[in-house]
Amino acid sequence: MSAKLISSIPTNLYIGGEWLPSSDGNRIAVVDPATELVIADVASGSAADATGAVDAAFEAAAEWVATPPRVRAEVLRKAFELMTERKEDLATIISREEGKTLAEGLGEVAYAAEFFRWYAEEAPRTMGHFGRSPAGANNILVDYSPVGVSLLITPWNFPAAMGTRKIAPALAAGCTVILKPASETPLTALALAGLLEDAGVPAGVVNVFPSSRSSEISNRILSDSRVGKVSFTGSTEVGRVLLAKASERIVNCSMELGGNAPFIVLDDADIDNAVAGAMIAKMRNAGESCIGANRFYAHSSIADEFADKFAAAMAELKVGPGLEEGVDVGPLVNASTRDKVEHLVNDAAAGGARILTGGRRPEGPGFFYEPTVVTNIDPQSEILHTEIFGPVAPIVKFDELSDVITRANETIFGLAAYVFSDNVGRALSVAQQLDAGIIGVNRGFVSDPAAPFGGMKQSGLGREGSQDGMHEFLEKRYIAVEW
Ligand code: NAP
Repeated sequence: MSAKLISSIPTNLYIGGEWLPSSDGNRIAVVDPATELVIADVASGSAADATGAVDAAFEAAAEWVATPPRVRAEVLRKAFELMTERKEDLATIISREEGKTLAEGLGEVAYAAEFFRWYAEEAPRTMGHFGRSPAGANNILVDYSPVGVSLLITPWNFPAAMGTRKIAPALAAGCTVILKPASETPLTALALAGLLEDAGVPAGVVNVFPSSRSSEISNRILSDSRVGKVSFTGSTEVGRVLLAKASERIVNCSMELGGNAPFIVLDDADIDNAVAGAMIAKMRNAGESCIGANRFYAHSSIADEFADKFAAAMAELKVGPGLEEGVDVGPLVNASTRDKVEHLVNDAAAGGARILTGGRRPEGPGFFYEPTVVTNIDPQSEILHTEIFGPVAPIVKFDELSDVITRANETIFGLAAYVFSDNVGRALSVAQQLDAGIIGVNRGFVSDPAAPFGGMKQSGLGREGSQDGMHEFLEKRYIAVEW
């Protein structure tokens, strides 16, 4: 059944409302990470095609910005409704190309759809403001206009939500877009293109442009003077490259980059709640999440109890193909992601770490890795200083609060963090000392379309979701006026 669904997805570039092959015939093979088999191939856009996508987005821009905000809102609302109606199909497509379980795929689709609903509600509320200058010399008028044609580049781990978190605010703001999905997961993005067309998005307003030549095409698009914005979600390494390129023309940038989230359990935490939170914060998408808990710090007085209960819960999880009944954890996205996870665990074990559960890769096919809990880790171990992006939880003991705060902040990243304590005042005081843009207090689940999502330090620039997400696609204009 899912094979028929996959073969129903258009596989060419979606430019100006048309499905076009790549001008040089290049294609990308899409692999099911549960079987390692190719399930589809899609057009891989060339630099010349990228200019075609900019032409289409630029031509559509004048009419889209002139479309009343209320009408833009209704299109976004329709996209929310269609996404909700098509949730089973979309979740199945996500699971086939990315690996997550059907239940997680449904969760992602619901979250992704919420961005259309939220920004449908925000679109008519982009009001400027007006006031008298304090000196009384003139009036101050501030209004907003869209930043213009926007390049959106997304990662593979949440192929629907990372797309809608950018498309919805961009369209609400009056921008037209070119979405470049990750090469591992172009099918969800192409399915989204069809959905947006059905929702009434005019031709050229959203262009979906898979390409395995990401550097070449982003260079071409960012060199084009008709392009006003790049909004990127992915690794810090690639974010740096894009920022350097964007600096040539001072292109407006939003960057959602990598993380290395600490998860801190204080001595007075409810251990069962901390374990429940750890399971969510660690195991969302098999650990392949930018806000995934990466390092666990537990107070010495409760660390063994926390580790034992956490390991017991991890050992209960069933690993297997995401669409199979009863499976809790799907495969990792590709061989290199799985090999990196395996290397980090083996390296920690070689340094004297103790594996409480997991620690092995099951027999293939499929890029599986067992849910793993590791303790007794050397503080210098690579596993504590690298974004693991897999189902592995390293646990470290601490005694002093000031020490754990220092250790938690000892990273170039500052995306997410988690604090567990039954004394909320104490937990909040720790939270306020953490360099992180998103903090869960007694909660492992933190994503919310109504909340600002983004990182400090080298985890990014700007915020997605909330009212902030729309302002990333707007320019402010101040007019000094007298009448
Ligand atoms: P990635 O390697 O940085 O790739 C992300 C996207 O950038 C893909 O579409 C990729 O295209 C493209 N890309 C790669 N090199 C490029 C270049 N030189 N110029 C322009 N585009 C380029 O990241 P990933 O492996 O897909 O995703 C995992 C990373 O994303 C992790 O670090 C994670 O923390 C981060 N992430 C952050 C957030 C957040 O909100 N902060 C959310 C999710 C993920 P190809 O696939 O064609 O190479």
